[in-house]
This record gives sequence, C-alpha cells and structure tokens, in this order.
Amino acid sequence: MTRALSGKIALVTGASRGIGRAIAMRLAGEGATVAVHYHSAEDAAKQTVDDIVSAGGAGFALQADLSATGGAATLAERLSAELVARFRSPQFDILVNNAGLSKRATIEDVTEEDFDRLLQTNLKSPFFLIKALLPHLRNGGRIVNVSSMGTRSAYPLMAAYAPAKAGLEALSRLLAQHLGPRQITVNSVLPGATATDMNVTARDPVASRAVAGTIALGRVGQPDDIAKVVAFLASDAGGWVTGQQIDASGGQRL
Ligand code: NAD
Repeated sequence: MTRALSGKIALVTGASRGIGRAIAMRLAGEGATVAVHYHSAEDAAKQTVDDIVSAGGAGFALQADLSATGGAATLAERLSAELVARFRSPQFDILVNNAGLSKRATIEDVTEEDFDRLLQTNLKSPFFLIKALLPHLRNGGRIVNVSSMGTRSAYPLMAAYAPAKAGLEALSRLLAQHLGPRQITVNSVLPGATATDMNVTARDPVASRAVAGTIALGRVGQPDDIAKVVAFLASDAGGWVTGQQIDASGGQRL
C-alpha cells in the first residue's frame, strides 16, 4: 500500500523528544525519510532514529543549536550535505519548525537575555532556516511552523514567548502568499496544553485535571495529537490549506 508521504524527505526540528519526536515518528510512519534535528540530546535523537528504522522507516540525526546566531544556517548546511551524500541532491519536501523554548514569566521578570533567547529560538531561527532552505524546498512542498495557543490566550506569564510565537504565525501567513506560486503551503499549528517536558502541569496526572477542565474534549493533549495534524498538513490531503493558524488543543477555552 502506498503511504501518504512515500518518497518525501522531511526535516523536523527539536525531534529528540516531545511533540517533535511524535511528528518525526508519524511522518516516517507515512513513508517520509526524516531528518531528526536535536540540540544537545544526541542519545535521544539516535533513539528516535532507531525507533523510526525499527518501525520500517528511514531517518538520520542532525545537531544544531537554534538559540545561537548562525545555528539555523549550520543546520541548513548539515541537512544539505547529508541529502547530497544520500540522494545526490539537496532537494527536500517538508520543513517542520517545531523546536521551541518557553519561559513562564511576566514582563517584570523577563530579562533582555531571556527575550533574545526566546526570540532567537522561536522566531529568528525558523525565519533563517526557512530562508536558507527555500532554494532546496521542492515546488509543492510544505512548511509547518509549530506555534502555540499562547498567542490566543493573552496569558500574562507568556510575556516573551507569546509575542515570539505570534511573529512566527505572521511570518507563516505572509510566506503562504509569497510561496503560493511555487505551490508550497505554509501553516501554523497551535498546540494547547500538551504533556511534554515543556509543560510540567500537563504532564502531571493530578495537576493536569484542572487544565483538562478547560478543554472541550476533557483531557490534555498528547504529542501524537499534534503530530497527526502536522502529518495531515504535510500530506496531499492537506494541500488546499495554506496561510492558516490551526488550533490543535482539543477545544481549549481561552
Ligand atoms: P519540549 O521541551 O519537549 O521540546 C522542545 C524541543 O525544542 C526539544 O526537542 C528541544 O531540544 C528543542 N530546542 C529547545 N531549545 C533548542 C535550541 N536552543 N536549539 C535547538 N533545539 C532546541 O517541548 P514540546 O512541548 O515538545 O515543544 C514542541 C513545540 O510545541 C515547541 O515549539 C513549543 O513551543 C510548542 N508548544 C508546546 C506546548 C505544550 O503544552 N507542550 C503548547 C504550545 C506549544
């Protein structure tokens, strides 16, 4: 049986754990060869690749620090070199900007260093990664940027995180227009509370019950809930959706 992403090549940033790992596993399960980007957790990234291969898929790991100036350019160079070595061409099909960093702090508690790091990781690195990889993204390709329901909720403790993610959504909307002539779609996926290392409340069985009470479907999200939405947008079935902010929150009340 042909799978939805057979023959496609994808890069997923921050794919050693959490939502990124689930996205990498799901895209690979649909037949894509997946570049599993990681920052410092080399063993976990290798585990993601091993799990992809054990399930009958294909993937490889790539390291880069996306909180550093030049990190996105480094990742783009490493991806291109690896693709040329494996496929004799740097062309690829799907870019998922998932890596992200949050800090729960009001404006009073956000330092300039915090602000720069959050902006760099959540907005500037995706911007420059897209810019560096655009020449290699095939016409008909897909860009999915992982944002957050935090851009909708006006939650004071997201003083630096939410503006950075809102910038990513604005970038996605304008790139959808800019890249439409190349039949490249660009969308933002907005997870709500999802049980990962980033969201200790959603991960905690007791604390998450209060959060679940604010969600129409009555539970916090699991990484694969988000991965399914990304896989849809990356597939042919999602080809008529572009420039959108897709809530993936189980119906979180704001
Ligand atoms: P996570 O902390 O488990 O994963 C974040 C990923 O980003 C990790 O793989 C990490 O290595 C990577 N990353 C962080 N700093 C990096 C750096 N300097 N360089 C390279 N990579 C770096 O959390 P998650 O929940 O899986 O987050 C995935 C995405 O989902 C993020 O963009 C996050 O903002 C977003 N999100 C999460 C939630 C939630 O409730 N978990 C809600 C809304 C949005």
